Amino acid sequence: MTKLNIFLICFIIALKGFCGEINQNKEFQAFLDEYVFKLADKSKSANLATWLLETTGSKEAASLSSSLNTELNLLFNDEATYKKLIAWQNAKSITDPILERELNVLIRSFKANMAPKELLEEISKKESELSSLFNNFRVTVNGKKFTDNEVWDVLQNESSVEKRKKVWEASKELGDVLAPKIIELVKLRNKVAKFLGYANFFDMQLELSEVNKTDLLKLFNDTAEKSNDAYKKMMLGIDTTLSKKFNVKTDEIGPWLWKDPFCQEDPIALQGMDNYIKNVDILAVAKSYYNQMNLNPDAIIKNSDLFEREGKNPHSFTIDIDRKLDVRTLCNIKPHIRWMNTVLHEFGHAFYELGYKVQLPWLLREPPHFLTTEAVALLMGRQSINPLFLKEFFNVKDEEFLKQMGLSLARTELIFSRYVLVMTEFENELYKNPDQDLNDLWWALVKKYQMVNMPENRKGKNDWATKYHIALAPVYYYSYLMGEFFAAGLEKKLIEISHSPKIWNPKSGEFLNAKVFYPGDSNSWDKLVSDVLGEPLSSSAWLEEFAR
Ligand SMILES: [Zn+2]
Repeated sequence: MTKLNIFLICFIIALKGFCGEINQNKEFQAFLDEYVFKLADKSKSANLATWLLETTGSKEAASLSSSLNTELNLLFNDEATYKKLIAWQNAKSITDPILERELNVLIRSFKANMAPKELLEEISKKESELSSLFNNFRVTVNGKKFTDNEVWDVLQNESSVEKRKKVWEASKELGDVLAPKIIELVKLRNKVAKFLGYANFFDMQLELSEVNKTDLLKLFNDTAEKSNDAYKKMMLGIDTTLSKKFNVKTDEIGPWLWKDPFCQEDPIALQGMDNYIKNVDILAVAKSYYNQMNLNPDAIIKNSDLFEREGKNPHSFTIDIDRKLDVRTLCNIKPHIRWMNTVLHEFGHAFYELGYKVQLPWLLREPPHFLTTEAVALLMGRQSINPLFLKEFFNVKDEEFLKQMGLSLARTELIFSRYVLVMTEFENELYKNPDQDLNDLWWALVKKYQMVNMPENRKGKNDWATKYHIALAPVYYYSYLMGEFFAAGLEKKLIEISHSPKIWNPKSGEFLNAKVFYPGDSNSWDKLVSDVLGEPLSSSAWLEEFAR
């Protein structure tokens, strides 16, 4: 065979390979055109039903939402399609990076749904049932019903230890109602995970979210260790202050003396802030804050449901209805600093959704991981207690008060980090063995990380089950702390590029849009974090800022 012939054969083989790749790209694109059209349509209907359910709590909406979400899940449940996707992946012939990422996203979305249909339907039904129970539960003490906001009011302002304890205990009664249902759900989720070849649901969720479990637990353990001294020192101060404030011995301090039902917020935060906020229009402040970043929340506000109402979900969340422009936020705004935080937080999520590059395909118009959108939301939310923010938007001039607010922010971060450590280890253990004494496990972790003792009469209760996320946003909480770490790195970056300690400025807005929002899900979260920060995710900026 002449050299020329060999060359020709090679050329033909190469050409064939190349044409094959073009064909595969085309073939996959044709599949996407048809499939994503159906997916986008069903997803929009399901989101609208979810919105109706969360804003009304109605039974009809619950059943509509449940059936549409099941139908949506079923779009990821077709084995023949999954096999086709795997074949495309194995052939390694999808060469376009955007198509390749879409394939990766689809495979991970399909995988969780490649379980028997009845099992998935049962899970979806149980989740809707739990959601409705959460929405309609009201804390009751001596026949008087309390909304979530009223429970918070008591924990924020009540001076009678006895009354606080009663309300706190009543808020935990929900746990006994929910616990057996949650355990059933956990076992069903584990069944799915095992069917798909994972040890349990916790491991499956992490892997399908592109998070390495060993790395995650190492990052959290290291952070716990490095912040332990700062946390211990802070807790000494907290115990002394609470003991004086409520006139009890330090060993009589119970979680009801904290300012929230889960000991996840600063219990000695200054009370005075709500005086400053009493006559402030929280929405107007949020608007002005974002306007300074050249981000306009008018469209978000127009689509949202922002004030408290009977039957409505008492929490808050943001939902991108159609991955186009219909982004909505649910809040229950009251004149409290925590609602200032929440509105800034939720709008942060909303701007993230609105900031994707226009040309991005539907499948990639989402964050690569919850943690990247949480980072933005957390960073925005926490500005509400930043002394510079308070000076500018609430006209606070008292320097000592501002200094105390700064210290409170550091406490808030440390306390919240500990709560996430509890949640993460709890969920890891819960999915390993849902039949163990979960209440004992919960309180052992609360003791280990939060350094809060289990009160005397809690044995045999189900306090763990009152946390919404355990039932309905499983294996999600860890992303808040990873989000905090990314937020700290991001804040450092924004200050550096805008040469301003106030991050609400046009350069920050531009950076967030261009570097953080714009790429959507076109790469994995760790690539995005490295691109934004110039280094992989770590807790160093966070430790530097809050655990000194
Ligand atoms: Zn959030």
